[in-house]
Amino acid sequence: MLSQADVIAIFEKCGALLQGHFLLTSGKHSDRYLQCAQVLQYPEYTRMICASLVEQLGEEPEIDVVVGPAMGGVIVAYEIGRQLGKRALFTEREEGKMRLRRNFSIRPGERVLVVEDVITTGGSVQEVIDVVKAAGGEVVGVAVLVDRSNGRADFGVPLYKALTVAAVAWEPEVCPLCQAGEPAVKPGSRGLK
Ligand SMILES: [Zn+2]
Repeated sequence: MLSQADVIAIFEKCGALLQGHFLLTSGKHSDRYLQCAQVLQYPEYTRMICASLVEQLGEEPEIDVVVGPAMGGVIVAYEIGRQLGKRALFTEREEGKMRLRRNFSIRPGERVLVVEDVITTGGSVQEVIDVVKAAGGEVVGVAVLVDRSNGRADFGVPLYKALTVAAVAWEPEVCPLCQAGEPAVKPGSRGLK
């Protein structure tokens, strides 16, 4: 199983976790930039981190289906499904509502692992859980690459995570990095979490 330090090393090597002074899309400032896609572009790192999550499942793999929300959860669901030898589905928003599309289905009684790349509020994961339950599936756990919920995420089922990164953000007026005179940068385009 990968240690937290191992996962951080992979994220930093991929440029998925940067230290600095960043302007978030919310308008707040942060000392960290996290972009899981930078890790997921490397199949081998994705395999390693997902293997670590699968190991954490331990005896749990009474799992029939793995489901994640597009976009972030698509690759994670695929890779964990591949390792478990189970189906991997993804949900998408249609007119703002999370749904199973493409004729994907979950049969009543199927045991489902919900996955995501990163959670902050956990809102998307909760929406996937609601979709699974509405289909009659049983959610047996949630697995994420990165937990940025500061311990707030609680889905009522076990939460497996490869990395925990505190989400620290400040209003510009109280940003300690601004007060230290460091210029804030806006990394990448979108997808700051
Ligand atoms: Zn600042």
